Amino acid sequence: MRSPLRTIAIIGGGFCGTVLAVNLLRRLPGQPCRIVLIERREQLGRGVAYQATGHRLLLNVPAERMSADVQDPLQFARFAQRRDPALGAQHFLPRELYGDYLQELLREAVQAAPAGVTFEAIRGEASALHRINGNGPYLIGLSERRRLLANDVVLACGDAPPVDVPCAPGLGQHPCYMCDPHQPAALGADCGRMLLIGTALTMADVALAAAAHNKGVELHALSRHGLLPAIQSDTASHGVDAIADELRACLADGPIRARRLLRAFRALTRDLRRRGGDWLDAVNAARIAAPELWQRMPTVERNRFLRHLRVYWDMHRHRMPPATAAHLARLRGAGRLHIHAGHVRSIEDAGGSLRVCWRPRGASALRELTVDRVIDCSGSGRRLGRTRDPLLRDLMASGLAVTDPLSLGWLTGAHGALIDRDGRAARHLYYLGPMLRAAHWEATAVGELRVYAQQLATALAQVTA
Ligand SMILES: Cc1cc2nc3c(=O)[nH]c(=O)nc-3n(C[C@H](O)[C@H](O)[C@H](O)COP(=O)(O)OP(=O)(O)OC[C@H]3O[C@@H](n4cnc5c(N)ncnc54)[C@H](O)[C@@H]3O)c2cc1C
Repeated sequence: MRSPLRTIAIIGGGFCGTVLAVNLLRRLPGQPCRIVLIERREQLGRGVAYQATGHRLLLNVPAERMSADVQDPLQFARFAQRRDPALGAQHFLPRELYGDYLQELLREAVQAAPAGVTFEAIRGEASALHRINGNGPYLIGLSERRRLLANDVVLACGDAPPVDVPCAPGLGQHPCYMCDPHQPAALGADCGRMLLIGTALTMADVALAAAAHNKGVELHALSRHGLLPAIQSDTASHGVDAIADELRACLADGPIRARRLLRAFRALTRDLRRRGGDWLDAVNAARIAAPELWQRMPTVERNRFLRHLRVYWDMHRHRMPPATAAHLARLRGAGRLHIHAGHVRSIEDAGGSLRVCWRPRGASALRELTVDRVIDCSGSGRRLGRTRDPLLRDLMASGLAVTDPLSLGWLTGAHGALIDRDGRAARHLYYLGPMLRAAHWEATAVGELRVYAQQLATALAQVTA
């Protein structure tokens, strides 16, 4: 079977799929090509993060750092100002507006596409992927028994879908238990008391939305350390690239161990404080240096980092807007939100509600909490090996994709090329999205993903079908 025209299929039309399509539409002059974007949701450009939820959830980053285009840092800020001149580049804007922006970018790129380059959106779910004759084009199995032949395939299907937390086996179907915090039903309009597992950014979203939805709800949030995300600073960072260079210089030679990384990071923060700087700039700098440092860490050291340091990294790296922090503080002050440090031991059905048994951090006695709903906001259940997603299972079963040894994501080579079961990097099959964290560590936010999207589009524009 031959595809008459080079077809690049992108599975997933969230941030990554949409921005990749925009980049491809701009980068393929003179090459007749068909770009097909497959998305199971109703709208392109929104994915999990930028849906219209009706709760006016804010972006975690000011507009001036949310451009989808590396070369045009104020693109999103200008879009927002066209909508409402009162919106400034330093403002934390609604997430829904960001989805509108991505949709407009795609519309404009489609209209301006060079002759011979076409764009097509397919609403549907991709559930299988098979390479014809081992080295021919890919055949994508779609919902409603449709099929699509593509020369290049990019999986832009997001993070691993959530699965049930290990301490709640068999609760997956329980009406009071939600492993996916982004489902509208997770807000529990009729709940008296809710437990949110996790105290990071997802918890903040769910707590604010649930409190707005249900004025009488009592919220409990629990994580190992009970730490809330740090708050974004109002002032822009300066000289972060130079600080990243200092960190690289400290770690220039020899293997990178978690302990050594911590020592170098602490020295950097002390130095920054001495110079009168903001110590959080050390986090911003470490984020820039992270991919190359991560790649130099042996697996055993990466594992150490995950076990002992990740919680501190996550809380300082993934910060919340000041308005979100103030809102959470008001809920806590009013006794509507309680933050706990501890560990969930078990969750059991208690006849229409759930009984949660947990151990406070540092204590030996167990405590119980009976709640109307438990929502897993921890992200800890995102294990590819346990996923029920048909496409991901199919990829693992066929050996076209394999998970990294720490289950952070897919094993990938240059530009996200998937590495197969035999250790070979595919030439025409890529992954783009947060599961690149297995290779780069930093791969969750727009700041990194827009760069990976642009690099992949450039690589695809250079490849001949
Ligand atoms: C709630 C939230 C808020 C965030 N806020 C910020 C922020 O303020 N600033 C920032 O820098 N970053 C933020 N991020 C991080 C970042 O923007 C996201 O990680 C990014 O959106 C990831 O995009 P993605 O396209 O890889 O995944 P997703 O957004 O998950 O999109 C994947 C898409 O693929 C579709 N899909 C999956 N499988 C299939 C299939 N088999 N067939 C068809 N379609 C499929 C899904 O329906 C989905 O639409 C946020 C993330 C989240 C979750």
